[in-house]
Amino acid sequence: MDTKRYAVFGHPVKHSLSPFIHREFARQFGLSLSYEAIDATPEGFAAALDTFAAAGGVGANVTLPHKQAAYGLCARLSARAQRAGAVNTLTRIPEGWEGDNTDGAGLVRDLTERRRLDLRGRSVLLLGAGGAARGIVPALLDAGVLRLVVVNRTPVKADELCDRLGEPDRATSRYWEDMRELGDFELIVNATSAGRDGQALDLPLSLVNSLTTAVDLSYGEVAIPFLAWARAAGCRLAVDGLGMLVEQAALSFAHWHGKRPDTEPVYQALRERDVALATG
Ligand code: NDP
Repeated sequence: MDTKRYAVFGHPVKHSLSPFIHREFARQFGLSLSYEAIDATPEGFAAALDTFAAAGGVGANVTLPHKQAAYGLCARLSARAQRAGAVNTLTRIPEGWEGDNTDGAGLVRDLTERRRLDLRGRSVLLLGAGGAARGIVPALLDAGVLRLVVVNRTPVKADELCDRLGEPDRATSRYWEDMRELGDFELIVNATSAGRDGQALDLPLSLVNSLTTAVDLSYGEVAIPFLAWARAAGCRLAVDGLGMLVEQAALSFAHWHGKRPDTEPVYQALRERDVALATG
């Protein structure tokens, strides 16, 4: 039996957990597959993907900073990738690559199934308007969120993201400086990469009430500043993005292999490796 080739493309990608996650999923079904991490610069991404396809690559995950570039390279797109304008899952088809985006569904699954959070009718503040933010907004709206406010350091990107959604009654963009006037939210999602520099965001305490859940899409050390702020501000729950990471990977895996893996043992294994940085 031929071993099928999969990979994650990013820059940097050395510390990606995706190879571990996909190999663990494959083990659950006794599947033989190869899954590697490929570092490609933004300029070299398209060529690296061609090389991978020529060498028999049949599926790939795409991470920072290539999600929007991947969107532009696809011959076919799923409806949710189309809405997001970003792709994290590529599947080889006769015409080239088919693009999907499992980030949003992965986050929603982590929040609703693992954390038992009902998103229907909720108010959500989204910090950031990069590739990850684009992926999650359609899924949050589909999950029944009533009010979504997007704030980004570079305001025009938040405007573009909301315009693309075309739901002005539910999704609006605001300036970072306006945050003090927005009131409180039931869910605050940090989709910025500010924590990569160890930076804490400047956020008013008025965003939080005693029922607020805070989620940082990143994990490990990168998530520490935001999670520390959320706990100090009195959030009911503060969680990192490890659950989302495993769930989005499971959705990619199911798309490629037609089998839904059990995410819990893989999540627990990663949580142990991650020295339990998040609560919940
Ligand atoms: P992008 O580079 O596409 O976007 C980065 C975002 O962070 C932009 O909105 C940017 O604002 C903002 N930002 C960066 N630095 C600061 C700062 N100092 N203050 C305020 N805003 C800042 O990255 P992604 O969207 O792809 O990823 C964002 C985070 O989400 C990363 O940490 C990534 O690891 C994580 N992630 C986790 C996933 C998971 O499965 N758990 C999946 C995908 C991403 P501006 O537009 O002004 O530059």
